[in-house]
This record gives sequence, structure tokens and C-alpha cells, in this order.
Amino acid sequence: MVLLVSGWTARLRDLALDGSEIYALAVFFYVGMLMVLNKLLGLPLDYYGFRLEHRFQLSNQKRRSWARDQVKGWLVGLVIGSILIELVYWTIRGAPRFWWLIAWAIFIVLFVLFAQLAPVVLFPLFYKFKPLENEGLKERLTRLSERAGTRVKGVYEWKLSEKSHKANAALAGLGVTRRIILADTLLEKYTDDEIEAILAHELGHHVHRHIPKSILVEAGITFFGFWAANQILHYAIERLHLFEQLSDFANLPLLMLVSAVLSLLLMPVLNAYSRFNERQADRYSYTAIPSIAPFISGMNKLADQNLAERQPSRLVELIFHSHPPIAKRIQAAEAWARGQSLLASRQSPA
Ligand SMILES: [Zn+2]
Repeated sequence: MVLLVSGWTARLRDLALDGSEIYALAVFFYVGMLMVLNKLLGLPLDYYGFRLEHRFQLSNQKRRSWARDQVKGWLVGLVIGSILIELVYWTIRGAPRFWWLIAWAIFIVLFVLFAQLAPVVLFPLFYKFKPLENEGLKERLTRLSERAGTRVKGVYEWKLSEKSHKANAALAGLGVTRRIILADTLLEKYTDDEIEAILAHELGHHVHRHIPKSILVEAGITFFGFWAANQILHYAIERLHLFEQLSDFANLPLLMLVSAVLSLLLMPVLNAYSRFNERQADRYSYTAIPSIAPFISGMNKLADQNLAERQPSRLVELIFHSHPPIAKRIQAAEAWARGQSLLASRQSPA
């Protein structure tokens, strides 16, 4: 907003054009300058986050390793950001009327590609992974998968302990790269039954096809986003005379503003969708494991270890939480178990 209101975006564009007369290269310079600015402004907050995790013993990452991650993250952002933005202005120049539709289609393809590549290309830049060696756990997972009528291609141990005291697990990737990843911090401190309950939850995401569904949801949102961006860009050019033409990449901050406002407005909706998926995966895990007890004790351990807020205010939950609060997840599991035992006692009158 500052760049737009102050007119500095035009100066940065001129600077970029001084650097190169080749349009695509000038766009790259402009993106690079924006990203340097963005990192400099955001760095104090990033460092505060780093210190905060140390103050509460959530992190054991050394300052040097943190700095390395910052540089790596910035470079990854520069590569991905440049590719996306070059594509946007390339379509604007090639097809000014339907650029937003074409750019949207390309974005979806790239989105699927990123989802597929992330666990094999991106994650290993920041953490080490190796195939899970625990034979007992592998066997349990195979059994769980067979019961679900599906196959998960791999389970990987995620070396989180090098940087963090927190524990986590996730389902990641698409197609051949789809895998369950388990933090070594989890494997170390949780019983096999608890890990099985967590595995069952991740398998629940897989069974309910949450990754492809989320991509579809994203596709719908970005379609609307690109359409809105086009409308606003035209309005800024034709009515406000802020820019001369669509292909003037000084309008990039406006595009980013549209996307930021849209993300902010949609955050509660997307989080509600995510919580819905999480509840679905939880319910799947209840039915997949022999007893609900390890699910509950595992949840309690996770809450303690990660310093999770067990019962945030309803408002905080609605806006920010992608997962239901732990207290609610445990309540839901207990309610389900009560329902099951009631059902069992009715079915087999003693
Ligand atoms: Zn989940």
C-alpha cells in the first residue's frame, strides 16, 4: 500500500528498467528489489519468532542454522515468486484480454506440480528425511492401509529434533510422492499405540482425499482472485489513472494487495474447511484403531510438548486455527467412544 500511495513503485520500476531494457529481466529485477525490501522489513519479526521459541524451549536451533534457513527460504521464495510473476506479465503481454484466465490455468498446473515436488525437492532443503526403519510400526501401517483399502507409498522419518523440540506428523505429496512423514521427536517419545493413532489420522486424510480436494478449493478461489485482480487493475488504469497500461509491472503491489486482502477475508472460511477435514480424519482414526485411549493420550502429549492452546477463545479458533483445539478433539473422541459402548451394550444384551 505504501509503495502504491507514495508512488515509489514507479521509481523501483524505472530503476529495474535502468538495469535492463529486456522486459522479462526488468521484471525479475523489480521482483528482486521488492523481495529484498520485504525481507528487511520482516526480519525483526522473524527473529522475534526465533527468540520466542527459544524462550519457551520449543526450539533448539542454533542462530547460524536459523540464518542459513532464512537465506535458503528467501532464495526459494525468489525462484518461485519470479517464476509466477514472470508468467503473469508474460500472459498480460501476450493475451491482454484473457490473461487472467490463462494465468489461472497455468497456476493450477504449477500448483499441482509444487504439491507433488514439495516433499522431494523443497522439504529436504530444510530437513533430513529417511525411510522409517521401525519394522513394527511399518507393519501396523500396512495393516491400517489394507483395512482402508488403499496404499501409502512411503513413511518417512523427519529429522525435526535437529531444530525443534516440537512433534508433528503430516501427509504430503501427490501421486508417486505421496507419503506420511513422522517427526523423530514423535517416534522417540510416543508409544507405538499412540503413533499408530496418529498414523491413522494421517491415513484418514489420505482416505478422504483431502489433498486433491484442497487443490480444487484453491483452484476455485484463485479463479475468483484472478478475475478480481483483472477488474481492479482495469479500474486503476482507466478510472484512477494510476498506471498507463496492464503490462506496467509497477502495478505488481496492487496485484499483491488484492491477493493479500482476499487471503485475509477468506482465512476464516479456509480454516473452517481445514477444521472440517481434521475432524473427518480424526473420526477415521477412531474406527481404524482398536482402542480410543492412545488417541487421547497422544493428543495430550502433543498439546504439552508443543505448548498448544488447549482451549482458545472461540473467536481465535474461528479466525486462526486450521485444526480444532485439542480439548475439542479429545471431547469428540470420548463422545464417540461412549456412543460405541452404548451401541455395543444394546446389541449384545447380557
Ligand atoms: Zn490432520
